[in-house]
Amino acid sequence: MGGVQVKWDGSRVTVAGLGVSGASAARALAGLGARVTVVDGGRGERQRASAAELEADGVAVRLGDGTTLPDATELVVTSPGWQPESPLFTAAAEVGVEVIGDVELAWRLRGPGAAPWLAVTGTNGKTTTVQMLAEILRAEGLRAAAVGNVGTPVLDAVLAEEPYDVLAVELSSYQLHWAPSLRPHSAAVLNLAPDHLDWHGSMAAYAADKGRIYQGNTIACVYNAADPATEELVRAADVEEGCRAVGFTLGAPGPSQLGVVDGLLVDRAFVPDRWRSAQELAGADDVSPPAPHNIANALAAAALARAYGVGPAAVRDGLRAFQPDAHRIARVADVGGVSYVDDSKATNTHATEASLASFDSIVWIAGGLAKGATFDGLVGGAAQRLRGVVLIGADRALIHESLSRHAPEVPVVDLDRTDTGAMAAAVREARALARPGDTVLLAPACASMDMFANYVRRGEAFAEAVRALEDGGAEE
Ligand code: ADP
Repeated sequence: MGGVQVKWDGSRVTVAGLGVSGASAARALAGLGARVTVVDGGRGERQRASAAELEADGVAVRLGDGTTLPDATELVVTSPGWQPESPLFTAAAEVGVEVIGDVELAWRLRGPGAAPWLAVTGTNGKTTTVQMLAEILRAEGLRAAAVGNVGTPVLDAVLAEEPYDVLAVELSSYQLHWAPSLRPHSAAVLNLAPDHLDWHGSMAAYAADKGRIYQGNTIACVYNAADPATEELVRAADVEEGCRAVGFTLGAPGPSQLGVVDGLLVDRAFVPDRWRSAQELAGADDVSPPAPHNIANALAAAALARAYGVGPAAVRDGLRAFQPDAHRIARVADVGGVSYVDDSKATNTHATEASLASFDSIVWIAGGLAKGATFDGLVGGAAQRLRGVVLIGADRALIHESLSRHAPEVPVVDLDRTDTGAMAAAVREARALARPGDTVLLAPACASMDMFANYVRRGEAFAEAVRALEDGGAEE
């Protein structure tokens, strides 16, 4: 593990990045008596406002310079978005100062008897799965929360005045990269597809960071039986003696697996005799939406809950209580017999593949920032179901080229626009391509930041444009 052991009181800690997680780390550390400096390369209005608040709490803030390591720094706590080769980290390495992330900090700040972590990572489905898991745990009567990238920051949950019994923790590959001593009770890797390769440098490095989640697991390492890369990570993991590998599958489960039989979610892992018996947990129709990838998420959540000792009825009740977040295969409206669906959260090809597989005849709106992805596989697999495609955003040419190679007969409208108003034009073009019974699907397979503040704004722009169609339709 190594690194500098820091006693918090009076210790000098540098926090890299003045976003939500940086501010929460800085406050927590200052509260423990550390002398905290936050550094951030920006000096815009948002940074200045947040700096003023932190300074009032006794935290020093240095804006406009994110590369120089403040003198006498003993530990650097980084925000998840910072590139691993940032000059600040190089400077820290040169003087032997350890760099950790917000999750590692939270892990180190847990007191004795702190709530165990049930952890979830994967390329897609993390948020959905931790939210399902938290519902299941609560249905069992436990004080539990979904924490991490959505909702409560991990640090706030760990330091909460009223302690939790157990936490459902969503972890990104970035956070795992900077969390060397994390040891969850049990963990799941939902799937592993190329994403964020610009950050990690290679698929191998990305997979290695994701695999850290299994380190030190005590009861179960949950993997996706349809995704051998996740099982390989379990095999490579350094777990506690007696920890089991538990798979989830959309087919009938083998021993030590959870799966689906006759429309029922069943458990053959956490039962007294897994060779001869199985336990019914819930109906597939208790999962919303009941799309295949989402049943997989539900099985992973159920596996972690069962590893923690939760009974079958709470799995069913928790899944029934779960409501999906906005912008995840959300039906916006039906206009003129065409259904408009917002999956703005599909920011990579793997999520978009699941999305395109959920509908039969699609006018697909795609494009944005590709983050180093390629689109041949996605386009080839979906060609049969595409009525047409409307492309927007900075990297749309990459998708266009894949369409020319693998779906040359599909009509494509290349909008050649990256301004925010392009979404309204895209929706109008999509309507022109669609026929009654089709689905117009926003599933961009790309990040949104070339055109929008985030995927939420992109989804909202889509919904606004669809509503404008509805209004226009009423006037006609
Ligand atoms: P994450 O937190 O990992 O980004 P979300 O639950 O927010 O995951 O879902 C992200 C996107 O991936 C959505 O577009 C959703 O429809 C899709 N998705 C969810 N679960 C899966 C899965 N198991 N496999 C593939 N795509 C998925």
